[in-house]
Amino acid sequence: MAEPARSASDDHDVRLTARAAGFARRGQPWFYADDLLVGAALPPRLLRVRDEEGRDLGLGVTGASKLALRLCGPWPGDGVPDREAFCRARLDAAISQRAGLLGPEDGARIVHGEGDWLPGLVVDRYGAVLVLQATSAWVESSLDAIVPFLVDRLAAESVVARNDVPARKHEGLAEEVRLLHGKRVEAAPFVEQGLRLEARPFTGHKTGYYLDQRPARALVRALAKGRRVLDLFSYQGGFALSALAGGATSALAIDQSEAALAAAQAGATRNGLAGLAVRAADAFDAVRELRERKERFDLVVLDPPAFAKSRREVEGAERGYRDLNRQALRLLAPNGFLVTCTCSHHVDGARFQEIARQAAAGLPFRVALRQRLGAGPDHPALLTHPEGEYLKTLLLQRLDP
Ligand code: SAH
Repeated sequence: MAEPARSASDDHDVRLTARAAGFARRGQPWFYADDLLVGAALPPRLLRVRDEEGRDLGLGVTGASKLALRLCGPWPGDGVPDREAFCRARLDAAISQRAGLLGPEDGARIVHGEGDWLPGLVVDRYGAVLVLQATSAWVESSLDAIVPFLVDRLAAESVVARNDVPARKHEGLAEEVRLLHGKRVEAAPFVEQGLRLEARPFTGHKTGYYLDQRPARALVRALAKGRRVLDLFSYQGGFALSALAGGATSALAIDQSEAALAAAQAGATRNGLAGLAVRAADAFDAVRELRERKERFDLVVLDPPAFAKSRREVEGAERGYRDLNRQALRLLAPNGFLVTCTCSHHVDGARFQEIARQAAAGLPFRVALRQRLGAGPDHPALLTHPEGEYLKTLLLQRLDP
């Protein structure tokens, strides 16, 4: 057996067990305390990760939660860079890799955790406003290096920490919303496919908007011409507005949040789009009522929140998805489209497709799978880290002879 002494005592190194090192070589980015040769969690720090024999596996950050170590990619030489140098290099790479993907006014995810070798950090840009989420203790303690670099590199006027996320608890961090730089703004204007939209950095959901659905909204826009559209779980009506911009004859947005629907209406006015109706309601009730009233739609979007927040909840969540999808399919007019989504990490793409199959079983029409989508290219998932690929979207079509 290799001597574990160095990994326990050396401040700059952590060694993995032989088994864990094998996983690390194959690209797995997450490790637990018993994957470390020291066999116990280490305080949050940037470290050089090695196998039992001391061979380099790149850098990693230790955590204060069950996730004892998250890898953050190769680094030249043998040492550990200081926080500033490391953060600068990773942030700069994340920004450079997005060059050309999105225009300067577009809303964009600038940093997507593991996908950018910055585990525990998410940064979304809405025009001149940056909204970040820090879900690891190491990232939290490195904000003094991260924020000034981002402000400078992206000419940001304000930076907001939307740290009201439960994941922070696992790392012993408080849930809070805080202005980190510049002045407080309630609305952050940005552009998506030419539509002028607004994120609410302090009061909106997530970081203020759902940037991950951009590809699906573009698809809806492309399909919407001449169609009656239903946007279920609409939030600020992103899908409904895209549909109207694409020539939909009408769009009904349903959400339980009155504030989100007010923003949807403001969005329609701002963009000169006619034909939007909004309804504050529980979407489960609303689909039943629409069906009883025999209302039909040529395009339905179903984008519920994550029903399975943990593995334990998967079974109930699957039932929820199945019922809702069945109801949504029943609202389709002949040859109508259903864009259906899940953002549950615990329901993978194959599973979701199976749920859709079950939802369609026994209906008096056939349902075709037309397309699969996920989050946009500004939300990179490592091939070796399927957990990063949380958003799954299917384009289904009711087929009538
Ligand atoms: N489609 C949106 C994002 C939807 S997020 C977009 O592209 O931007 C999920 C939304 O579901 C949230 O706005 C939340 O308010 C809403 N919601 C959650 N549970 C609900 C329920 N039972 N009935 C109606 N809306 C609900």
